[in-house]
Amino acid sequence: MLTRPMLARFRKKLLRWFAEFQRDLPWRRTKNTYHIWLSEIMLQQTRVAAAIPYYERFLAAFPEVKVLAQAPEEEVLRHWAGLGYYSRARNLQKAARQIVAEHDAAFPDTSEKALALSGIGAYTAAAILSIAYGRKLAVLDGNVARVIARLAGIRGDLRSGGRWQLLQKSADELLSPQAPGDWNQAMMELGATICTPRSPQCLLCPVAEFCEARKLGLADVIPENRKLRDVVEVMLAALVIVDPEGRTLLLPHGKSRAMTGHDVAVLLSRMWHFPTIQVKKDARKELRDFAASCIGKRFAAEFQGLPKVRHAVTYRQITVLPFRAEVEKLPVIAYAKTLRLDDLSLVPVSNLTRKVAGAALCAVVDWKTAREKAPTLCF
Ligand code: SF4
Repeated sequence: MLTRPMLARFRKKLLRWFAEFQRDLPWRRTKNTYHIWLSEIMLQQTRVAAAIPYYERFLAAFPEVKVLAQAPEEEVLRHWAGLGYYSRARNLQKAARQIVAEHDAAFPDTSEKALALSGIGAYTAAAILSIAYGRKLAVLDGNVARVIARLAGIRGDLRSGGRWQLLQKSADELLSPQAPGDWNQAMMELGATICTPRSPQCLLCPVAEFCEARKLGLADVIPENRKLRDVVEVMLAALVIVDPEGRTLLLPHGKSRAMTGHDVAVLLSRMWHFPTIQVKKDARKELRDFAASCIGKRFAAEFQGLPKVRHAVTYRQITVLPFRAEVEKLPVIAYAKTLRLDDLSLVPVSNLTRKVAGAALCAVVDWKTAREKAPTLCF
């Protein structure tokens, strides 16, 4: 792509720019592999600004890889709650246990060993090993691929037709052998702050003189949009049972799967959740039948319909129809958890469950007024 002198100039310009303009991020102030690894996992699906408070709270709770390995999974998920994509947290802990058991609690320093850990793919391994150990491994993710595609003027879907392999080859050639960790971070930083998906700021770009897309006036059209998977609509109904003390009932993932079905359990991120089912036509009736058969035959409370909750999980657009049922006494279910509706923070819950709780809390005032007029049934 570039002649040898051009490549040298390109590297120099980008590394200088990075040294001067890089954002001050907590994981850039350390060489601790556990901290770098945690940041890379959190940043896989989360913006930097959103990840920082989670990163700091997580490290305060689990300051060392050994502490993370020994922690109950539920505690790990509780500290991840709100970040989404919870398999990241589960894999992080599995990998922590592997590292303690097989690598004397130190993150391995070779690609082969790093790739054998749960949740570590080629990108994450290259990022951690280059930043923490100075290994000459070039990262390639969507951000870096976009930058390279624009620099080289590569058109078409970057993930097909052998383009990704071509981009990896280019990333390997561009990598600065003297400073691979800084180099990878500089490429990522350029993609995150200047060469952004929409409206790249070419006037501020330190490597604009090398950019084919800019020369051809194609910076805005490279890369071409990928064909997105069709959106699948899913309709759920959730039951928020509340007693006079404001306590509610949550079900755990494992036990409730038989009741709610595998697909629903996945949508609820395999975390604590309100009794929830997938519904087709008459959500109120279907939920009532479910409650009668799975929660208790005597369950005869009136269900108050609450405002719809919307949530997206990858290509699935979920609409939840929440219902609130006020009861004198919560049903007794051995494996369920009883906790205050206005404080679900004691157990790991997904954002979807938080939204349902929010809808139920907002409805309290209206419900109380309605109840005075027409008292409801209870257990
Ligand atoms: Fe990206 Fe523009 Fe820089 Fe090219 S000149 S790498 S399109 S920011």
